[in-house]
Amino acid sequence: MSLTDLTIHELHERLVRREVSSVEATRAYLERIAAVDERINAFITVDAEGALRQAEAADRRLAAGKGGALTGIPLALKDIFVTEGVRTTCASKILQNFIPPYDGAAAARLKEAGAVLLGKLNMDEFAMGSSNENSAFGAVKNPWNLQCVPGGSSGGSAAAVAARQAAATLGTDTGGSIRQPAAHCGVVGLKPTYGRVSRYGVIAYASSLDQVGPMTRDVEDCALLLQAVAGHDPADSTSVDTPVPDYRAALGGDLKGVRVGLPREYFIEGLDSDVKEAVMGAITVCRELGAEIVEVSLPHTEYAVACYYLVATAEASSNLARYDGVRYGLRVDEGKGLLDMYMKSRAAGFGAEVKRRIMLGTYALSSGYYDAYYLKAQKVRTLIRRDFLEAFEKADVLLTPVAPTTAFGLGEKTADPLQMYLSDIFTIPVNLAGSCALSLPCGFTPSGLPVGLQLVGRPFGEETILRTAHAYEQATDWHRRVAPI
Ligand code: GLN
Repeated sequence: MSLTDLTIHELHERLVRREVSSVEATRAYLERIAAVDERINAFITVDAEGALRQAEAADRRLAAGKGGALTGIPLALKDIFVTEGVRTTCASKILQNFIPPYDGAAAARLKEAGAVLLGKLNMDEFAMGSSNENSAFGAVKNPWNLQCVPGGSSGGSAAAVAARQAAATLGTDTGGSIRQPAAHCGVVGLKPTYGRVSRYGVIAYASSLDQVGPMTRDVEDCALLLQAVAGHDPADSTSVDTPVPDYRAALGGDLKGVRVGLPREYFIEGLDSDVKEAVMGAITVCRELGAEIVEVSLPHTEYAVACYYLVATAEASSNLARYDGVRYGLRVDEGKGLLDMYMKSRAAGFGAEVKRRIMLGTYALSSGYYDAYYLKAQKVRTLIRRDFLEAFEKADVLLTPVAPTTAFGLGEKTADPLQMYLSDIFTIPVNLAGSCALSLPCGFTPSGLPVGLQLVGRPFGEETILRTAHAYEQATDWHRRVAPI
C-alpha cells in the first residue's frame, strides 16, 4: 500500500511509531500531485517548499513525542481560505495575484496542530457553482471518470482526496459545496452547523449560509479534522461559544434506538434510478443495524432553491462590492476616472456566473423589490427552518440522497443555469435551516460513478450524524474503493 492511500488516522499511527516521517509522506504527496494533477486540475497553487518546511518541523515535534492527530499530515485547502504568504485566488481573475498578509482561522488552527499544507485547491469562482466549471483556472475533472465534473464548488477539494493528492482537505458549503462534490467523488464531506467553525479568513460568498468543513477518506478522519477546526473564535462574531464535544469518542456501536427519518419530499420523481437504488440499499443497512425508520415531511422543500437564490445572491452582491480594483486584486485603469476604473476592473475580473449573481442579488435588494423578493425569501427561510425542527421531533437523523444524479458530463449543464441550480435541491435546505449534514459514499453506478448518502442532524448534532455514518461505513466497504486514476 502506498503512503498516499492511508487515511489520516492510519498515517498518524505510522508517524508516531516513526515508521515513516512527515517529510517522506509529504514527498509522496508532492510526487502524486506531479503525476496526476495535469489530468485532474485540482490544485491552483502547490507550495512544495512551504510544505516540506512544515513537514520538517512536524518531524521534530513527533520526535519529541509531542505530535497530535494531525501533526505531519499532508492536507490541502480550498482556495477560498486565506493563507499567509500563499496566493489565494478564490478561483477568480480578480484575485489572481492576491497574496494574503495573514492566516485565516482554518489555516492557523491546522498549522498549530502541526499539519502540512500542500497547497490551494481549485473551486468554482467565489464558490458559485455545482460543477467546478466556473473557475478562472479551468474545470476540475472527476477522478472516477475524466469526462465528468467532480461537483462544486469544492470540486478541487473532493477530487484531491479521491485522487490521493492530499490526505484530506477543507472545503466550504453555502448550499451544498462540500456534500455534493463529496458525493460525486466518493469521499466523506461534512457541513457543520452554522456557527460551529470560524469563518474568519474565509472569503465571503453568502455570510449567513457559509460554513467550513472537512472532506476525507472516511468518517473517523472527518471527526478528527472537524475537531481541529471547530470552536469559538472571537474573530468571527457568528461563531458560537458552546463546548466542542470529542467527536471521535462519539464513534462506535450500532444504530439501536436511533430514529432515522426519511423526508417524503426527497424521494421524488426525477431522482436518478441508480441514486434511488443505492439510497434504498443504505436504508436497509441502517434498519439491519437497529435503526428505527420513520417517515417525516419537510413541506416547504419545493421553495428552497428559489429562496436560496434570493438570499445567497443578495448577500453575495454586497460581499463582492469590495472588489473594486482599489485595495487589492486586479485593476484595469485607463486614466479615465474612478468610476471607469471600477467598472473596467469588475468587468474584466469577474466571470459570467459571478456577474449573473451580482445582478440578481442587487435586483432583489433594490428599493421597490426588496419586500417582494428579499424579505419574502427571509420569511420562507424561517418556514424551512421550522420544517426541520419539527422533523427532528420524530427523528434523530434524516437520511436522503445528496443530489438527484451522480456526476454529470463536463459541459452538460453549463448552458442552463437553472438545471445547474437544481442539482443542489437536497443540500440547500440544510444551509437555510443552519443545520449540519454529512455526505458519504453508499454505492456505485454500473459505469463506476460514486453515489452519495446524506445524513442531516439537528443544529449542533454533529456527533449523531458522525456516529450514524460511522456505523453505516463499518457495515459497508464503499469507502475502500479507489478511483482508477
Ligand atoms: N451550488 C450552489 C451555488 O452555486 C452552492 C455553492 C456553495 O455551497 N458554495 O451557490
